[in-house]
Amino acid sequence: MSEIKPCPLCGTKPYIRKYNAEEEDIVSCTVGGCPLSAGYITLSEWQKRPIEDALRAENEVLREACRVAEQTLRNFANGDLKGDAKVIAHNAAYRLFNLLQD
Ligand SMILES: [Zn+2]
Repeated sequence: MSEIKPCPLCGTKPYIRKYNAEEEDIVSCTVGGCPLSAGYITLSEWQKRPIEDALRAENEVLREACRVAEQTLRNFANGDLKGDAKVIAHNAAYRLFNLLQD
């Protein structure tokens, strides 16, 4: 199984109560006062984070896009681009500059 996820509300490493082979483990937050410290959440339910998983996947795509953009701009700055590639990189740099100003 993958690593147990932290509490979605406070980020703390949770406590796992293990029972036996017939019953699923129960997870709870270890921080007193956290709403998930007093509950009955099975390990499989605790690990479900569809929105978080989708955001992580989207974040990875955006990070890769930033890496590609950075490399393209470096190539532009170094004078390694010619023709249409040079124009495209120039326009991308201009758009990025404006986005970063907001
Ligand atoms: Zn918590």
